Amino acid sequence: MTKAYDQLADRTSHLVAEGAYFFLAKAQQIEAKGREIIHLEIGQPDFQTFANIGMAGIRAITTGQTRYTPPAGIPPLREAIAKYTGERIGMTFSADQVTVGPGAKPLLFFPMMALLEPGDEVIYPDPGFPSYRAIIKIMGAKPVPIPLKEEKEFSFDMDEFMKKINPRTRLVIVNSPSNPTGGIIPAQDLETIANAAIKNDCWVLSDEIYTRLSYTKEPVKSIMTFPGMAERTILMDGFSKTYAMTGWRLGYAVMPKQLADTVGLLLTHSVGCTATFTQIAGIEALEGPQEQVETVRQVFHKRRDVIVKGLNDIPGITCQMPQGAFYVFPNIKHFGRTSDDLANYLLQEAGVCVLPGTSFGKMGEGYLRLCYANSIEAIEKALEKMKDALSKL
Ligand code: PLP
Repeated sequence: MTKAYDQLADRTSHLVAEGAYFFLAKAQQIEAKGREIIHLEIGQPDFQTFANIGMAGIRAITTGQTRYTPPAGIPPLREAIAKYTGERIGMTFSADQVTVGPGAKPLLFFPMMALLEPGDEVIYPDPGFPSYRAIIKIMGAKPVPIPLKEEKEFSFDMDEFMKKINPRTRLVIVNSPSNPTGGIIPAQDLETIANAAIKNDCWVLSDEIYTRLSYTKEPVKSIMTFPGMAERTILMDGFSKTYAMTGWRLGYAVMPKQLADTVGLLLTHSVGCTATFTQIAGIEALEGPQEQVETVRQVFHKRRDVIVKGLNDIPGITCQMPQGAFYVFPNIKHFGRTSDDLANYLLQEAGVCVLPGTSFGKMGEGYLRLCYANSIEAIEKALEKMKDALSKL
C-alpha cells in the first residue's frame, strides 16, 4: 500500500458497497456466462418514467433550461413541493422550508451534516436502509440501532427504543413504509416516538419515500403531524419510487426554515444545484395527472399478494404481508444457514438474485429481502425455482 492510500481519511474507513450493488455484480458475472438470472434485488420500479414527465424534461432541455439554478431548487418546484406535501399530510408549508437535491439521499446526508456533532447519538432502524448507518458514521456520530420486530409487523421494538433514547440522542430516523421490510409504523408507535423526541429535545428524520406505495385503507401517517413535531422534523421524500425516476436524481425534504437555509448552503458548496430539466420534470410529476401512480400502486399490490402467497407455500419459509413499499422480508431461520449463505445459494442454484437481510443491518440475520418490482411471470418463475432449490437443503 502506498503512503497516499494509507492517508485516506478515517471517516471513510467503515464504508462498504450497498448489498444490492454487490449482488447485482455477482448476478451479472453469472449472466455473462449465458445463464438466466431473475432479478429481485435492486429496489427500483420496473416501469418507465411516465411519458408526460419525460416530455417535460425533454422540452426543458430543448428550450435551453440547462443552466445553474438556486442551490435549494427552482422556486416553482419548491412551491409545488410545499403545496403537495402540505396537502398530503394536512399541514401548511412555505417554499422556503423545502430543499431540493439530486436524489433523496442528499436530503439524508446534508441535514445530518448540519445537525450532528461527533459523538451525538442517532437512533435508526435495524434492519434499515444502509445509508442511515453509513452517514451517521461519516459524521462521527454514534449509531444506535433499534431492532424492527417481525412480530410487530416490523415496527420498532418500542421497549428498546424507550431504553435507548436519552438527552444525548440528537436525531431519530424513522422510515415508514420501510426498506427493507415493507412495514408501516403504527400511529400509536409514531406518537410515542414523537413524545419521546420532544421530551429529549431531539430531531426526527422521517424518510417517507415509499409513502405513496401503501396498501392500507388510510394514507400512511407522518410523524411530522403530531403536536410539537413541525419544528423538529425533517420530512424526506423524493421522486425516484413514486414516479419511476430513479435515474433522474430528484429528491427533497421539508424542514424548519433555519435548517433548510443551512442545508441550502451545504448544497451550494457540494453539488451546486440539481439539474434544471430534472427539476422541471419534477413539477410536471407533482402537478400533472396522478392516475398512473395509482395504476402502478395497484400493480404492485397484486404482485405483493402473489409473492407473499408463493413464499409461504415454500416449506421452511414464512412471510409477513407487508403493507407498503415493494419489498418482502421473509423469515428463513428454518434452514439453519446465514442469510448471506442462503442468498448466495439461491443465486447459484436457482438463478434468483435476492438480498441477505444482513445487507440492512445485523438484525436482518435470518431474513431475505426480495423486491417485487418485476413482472408476475418473473415472480412466479422465481418462486418455483426457489422452491425447487430449497427443497434440496
Ligand atoms: N430512502 C430509502 C428508504 C430508500 O429505499 C432509498 C432508495 O432506495 C432512498 C432513500 C434514496 O432515494 P434516491 O434514489 O431518490 O436517492
